[in-house]
Amino acid sequence: MYVLAGELKMVFDLKRVLRHDLENLAPYQVEPSKNGLLRLDANENPFDFPLFLQEEICRQWRSGFFTRYPDDLAGELRKAISQFTGVPVEGIIAGNGSDELILNLCLAVGNGAQVVIATPTFSMYRVNSLIAGAVPVEIPRLKAGFALDLDRLSEIAANEKTRLIFLCSPNNPTGNATPVADIAALLEHSRALVAVDEAYIDFGGVSCLPLLEKYENLIILRTFSKAFGLAGLRVGYLLGNPGVVKELLRVKQPFNLSTFAQVAACTVLAHREEFRKMTDAIRQSRDALGQELASLPGITVFPSEANFILFRTPRPAQEVFDRLRQEGVLVRNLHGPGLEECLRVTVGREEENQIFLEKMRKICC
Ligand SMILES: *Cc1c(COP(=O)(O)O)cnc(C)c1O
Repeated sequence: MYVLAGELKMVFDLKRVLRHDLENLAPYQVEPSKNGLLRLDANENPFDFPLFLQEEICRQWRSGFFTRYPDDLAGELRKAISQFTGVPVEGIIAGNGSDELILNLCLAVGNGAQVVIATPTFSMYRVNSLIAGAVPVEIPRLKAGFALDLDRLSEIAANEKTRLIFLCSPNNPTGNATPVADIAALLEHSRALVAVDEAYIDFGGVSCLPLLEKYENLIILRTFSKAFGLAGLRVGYLLGNPGVVKELLRVKQPFNLSTFAQVAACTVLAHREEFRKMTDAIRQSRDALGQELASLPGITVFPSEANFILFRTPRPAQEVFDRLRQEGVLVRNLHGPGLEECLRVTVGREEENQIFLEKMRKICC
């Protein structure tokens, strides 16, 4: 039967075709780069990428760099990561940033799965759980210094509904690291996968890498975006038990890491001493910056083992954030449950930290 034009008008209803459970999920928002703004908001490496390494990366140009698909399993890079970490190649997945690997973990445990998150922490654990249709359950870090609530975590880790637990150490945005013994204690009780995000491990805290051999359900996430200065190229990696990694590969997108990113990450790893100099400088600056900041009236500084500092202001965080922005300095406003009137500043180069402190003195005193 033919319907004459105009008689049966299809009405496209966008709401009808989209997932209702994502209606309240806000898209990830970042302030666009703007000239002149001092960006101390994204925990990036503040130093220039070494020119000789840029050149070395470009020298590895080969035919097919643009036209051919990249190595799907990032073989060379995984070999280099294996040498660096001691984890066999079969226990490594390279990701388009560790954000992709966080999503893959959520997709692998699946729809309706309970995913446990120790908050306040990195927002992508919750966001990617929701995108995967999983159910995030938040266990607040209520103790002094944002330590894990091990009793509650152990209890929920033993629950058969729990499939995946995210821990971040050193934790973004609070800056504290979790002792390896605490992670081991949790692993003893856990029937779920436990993913420890070590994005900031180059700045402090102790890696739980030695636990990988003992616990089949331990996963470690790392990134080249922070200490290794490759945030623009999106490279992260996951370390785990080869049996677990084999299953996780089912949800990996093919060719997820560009050839350029693979070559750059290999080069960076081969020259990691260059980056150690930078992380040493950042650690020193962090401690100095923390002390200076703590000396400002009314400011509470939380101890940090990462390349950023969380602090509480006596004035509304939004007001301090806006004033800093007017003065040309961008930080993160983290005001929210457990982080009332808190801001996070990334440790920059020494002269950048001094500019930030000068503006803070102007605003707060
Ligand atoms: C920045 C950050 C990441 C993201 O790393 P990418 O590799 O750039 O995706 C992951 N985890 C934490 C805790 C971070 O702060």
